[in-house]
Amino acid sequence: MGRTVYADNAATTAVSPQVLEAMLPCYKEWYGNPSSLYALGQKAKEKLEEARADVAQCLGASPDEIFFTSCGSESDNWAIKGAARAQRAKAGKAHIVTSAFEHHAVLHTCQALEKEGFTVTYLPVHENGVVRPEEVEAAITEETALVTIMYANNEIGTIQPIPEIGAVCKKHGVLFHTDAVQAIGHVHIHVKEQNIDMLSLSGHKLHAPKGVGALYVRKGARIQNLLDGGAQERGKRAGTENLAQIMGLAAAMKEACSTIDQRVARLAPMRDKLIDGLLKIPRSRLNGDRDRRLPGNVHFCFQGVEGESLLLLLDAKGVAASSGSACTSGSLDPSHVLLAIGLPHGVAHGSLRLSFGDYNTMEDIDYLLEVIPPIIERLRAMSPLWDAIQKGEVNYDQYM
Ligand code: PLP
Repeated sequence: MGRTVYADNAATTAVSPQVLEAMLPCYKEWYGNPSSLYALGQKAKEKLEEARADVAQCLGASPDEIFFTSCGSESDNWAIKGAARAQRAKAGKAHIVTSAFEHHAVLHTCQALEKEGFTVTYLPVHENGVVRPEEVEAAITEETALVTIMYANNEIGTIQPIPEIGAVCKKHGVLFHTDAVQAIGHVHIHVKEQNIDMLSLSGHKLHAPKGVGALYVRKGARIQNLLDGGAQERGKRAGTENLAQIMGLAAAMKEACSTIDQRVARLAPMRDKLIDGLLKIPRSRLNGDRDRRLPGNVHFCFQGVEGESLLLLLDAKGVAASSGSACTSGSLDPSHVLLAIGLPHGVAHGSLRLSFGDYNTMEDIDYLLEVIPPIIERLRAMSPLWDAIQKGEVNYDQYM
């Protein structure tokens, strides 16, 4: 067996041994229904509330502001639809401000609300992939029900000025939601200090299992119920709680949020070495601001290369990577994120995302720097587009 490198931590992560250990007793010992009154049920309820308190503490929230969900997409859908519809019902406000490069869990939710009569402003993210707080402020009107801007972009890893955007929203009395699925464990987040009214997160990006997430909703912020039924999640999201997954999420959050500085100190030098090495490849380009980026994110375009072919050849070398977000891979459309930062289709198609986490090492980076340049060279040797670029028939000089 040759070397393998898992460089797709932004798509998902392995469940950590500590998380698994935290989950197992829920299947074996604390299997009671948290709504049952006997001791076994009450033990499960106690564990559920411990997990809620842990997640709340990681965010600077209080436990009754945390709702468990089944994933980040559910949290985004609930926050945006639930708050927008509540605002329209209460105050007649039907305008939403978001950015052009949100995850589809946000973009498609906004598009669904447009079909219900809401209007949506999609702010530009500029060449560096960063939303400008002053443009958020300029977009807010008397009609604005909600602003939703992601904390960190899932493709190009750019970190948004969330505290500044939160301050703008607070000044105008507008609700502010952030999709923090990629940011948790990589950036210090404190919902109160950063003026965040609602925040979505997902377990499987931080070594918890797939299929569990959470939504923070500030006390006093109105949001419609997601699921009607029993009294779980304070009557807002019915359904017997998935305690094992929730315990796994809480254990992962505690670990991720208490070790942010160490994670950044370990990952950032790996990221920077890889960026410097890949920039030596002719006609390569780093996407997204170099400084305002997640410590484990490297995102490139290589001119004259097809991203899908690059992934296949990397796979043959034992490297798991991505050419866009996991949700859009399989589609031949170029990434909406790369189009939003102004890249033409021909450049956007040659993209590669490498994302690192707790189990990666500097040896992984050395291996990537050994295998990627010859693969690019091989693909370019067969590429009619590369030929055209070389002959000057296609000019992508400004995208390097
Ligand atoms: N938001 C962002 C920024 C993401 O990166 C993802 C997953 O890739 C999601 C939302 C959706 O999360 P989940 O897979 O838990 O539904």
